[in-house]
Amino acid sequence: MIKHSCGIFGVFGHRNAAELTYLGLYALQHRGQESAGIVVSDGKNVRHCRGMGLVSEVFNRETLRNLEGRFAIGHVRYSTTGSSILKNVQPFVVNYSGNTLAVAHNGNIVNAIELRRKLESAGSIFQSTMDSELLLHLIARSRQEDFRKKIAAALNKLKGAFSILLLTKNQIVAARDPLGFRPLCLGKIDGAWVVASETCALDLIRAEYIREIKPGEIIFFDENGLHSSVYSRKNSGFAFCIFEFIYFARPDSNIFGGNVSVVRENLGMHLAREHPAIADFVMPVPDSGMYAALGYAQESGIPFDMGLVRNHYVGRTFIQPSQEIRDLGVKIKLNPVREILEGKRAVVVEDSIVRGTTSRIRMKALRDAGAKEIHMRVSCPPLRYPCFYGIDFPTRAELAASSHNIEEIRKRIGVDTLGYLSLEGMLDSMPAPASKFCTACFTGKYPVPVKERFSKYTFEKI
Ligand code: AMP
Repeated sequence: MIKHSCGIFGVFGHRNAAELTYLGLYALQHRGQESAGIVVSDGKNVRHCRGMGLVSEVFNRETLRNLEGRFAIGHVRYSTTGSSILKNVQPFVVNYSGNTLAVAHNGNIVNAIELRRKLESAGSIFQSTMDSELLLHLIARSRQEDFRKKIAAALNKLKGAFSILLLTKNQIVAARDPLGFRPLCLGKIDGAWVVASETCALDLIRAEYIREIKPGEIIFFDENGLHSSVYSRKNSGFAFCIFEFIYFARPDSNIFGGNVSVVRENLGMHLAREHPAIADFVMPVPDSGMYAALGYAQESGIPFDMGLVRNHYVGRTFIQPSQEIRDLGVKIKLNPVREILEGKRAVVVEDSIVRGTTSRIRMKALRDAGAKEIHMRVSCPPLRYPCFYGIDFPTRAELAASSHNIEEIRKRIGVDTLGYLSLEGMLDSMPAPASKFCTACFTGKYPVPVKERFSKYTFEKI
């Protein structure tokens, strides 16, 4: 059930632009596994390769060889808006005014329905059901004369979360929404510029990390170099997605001014102080609970062990077994180690509980393997509210903590004790002040008001 939001990557001014983008997307694969795409320009022609599936399934030597050019943008997608079909694969490409315009977007635009209705009544014909396509229409319709101003005007019409890369025949544009919900960073390799959702993608290609792209910033990369400006007319604080630290981002990445694994260890340490337990060992639910479990073990002095082993080769194509043997399927991804668990009291550290259904099945598997006591510790507060800014949570009703108290969840999951990290403990573990984070999924305080409560299929209905 590893479903993430999207990852974007771009290179400007490198003869291996497409290959570097391919590698960058590999590093960002955890942010989206439904589809992948690369668009590349050699200054005259724009070529692309996009498809459903993992990066390794979409590209091969042949397709990469055809992607000639010195600048490229790429995208890995998990559908938070629009269903998972080929026409929704990004980067989205259109021909416009003698040029080509491609967009790769991570986030969610909260005024998408309103904007789309307006554009459609003014004659726009949409090709996809993605909110990302809006930006292209807004640019095309802008009355500003200058291309840069057109983009700035279009971005100013969008509300919500967006880290965006645009490509034309002779430039790349990178922009981040004014509150900076999703991460985006800037790097350099062999004199070429690189932009990536997370720094782990820079590491992979050995690009030098330069800095984060600032909330409300727009950067143009063209033959004159890099040109940065602030496009946003308003700037009222920040709203870094705290859930990137809890679950989404890769632990080796640095985002929002901090390293993800270090933050997760801090979360685990706070958790150990807030919810101590008497136990024989501490174990994570791999992989996402790993660093918080290490932090918990360090702080509590309880030994660390791995009571669950993860099979890394379970792809999206895994076919759910028939009802008769469904129980066997549960263990395909995580298998308990009886020799570690039998007769033992375990602290099990989980990064988050969403619906509670997977946790229930996993905890039962630990019991079946002989665990005597299970003390579940969760490295964030109860998730009570849906996310409208690009993280795929179920509706409010399906979130376990929206309608159940902790004791009810404990019973449902079938553990001896259950402890969630407090909001203060979570915020104290962060590398930036509390005021800089979006905590809407825990608090219900939405930094950008959401008028339209849309589902990811909304555009298919209107
Ligand atoms: P559950 O017990 O069904 O709530 O599932 C909890 C598991 O879902 C944890 O291991 C989390 O790492 C994982 N998780 C957290 N957020 C998401 C998300 N947005 N989509 C899918 N899985 C998630």
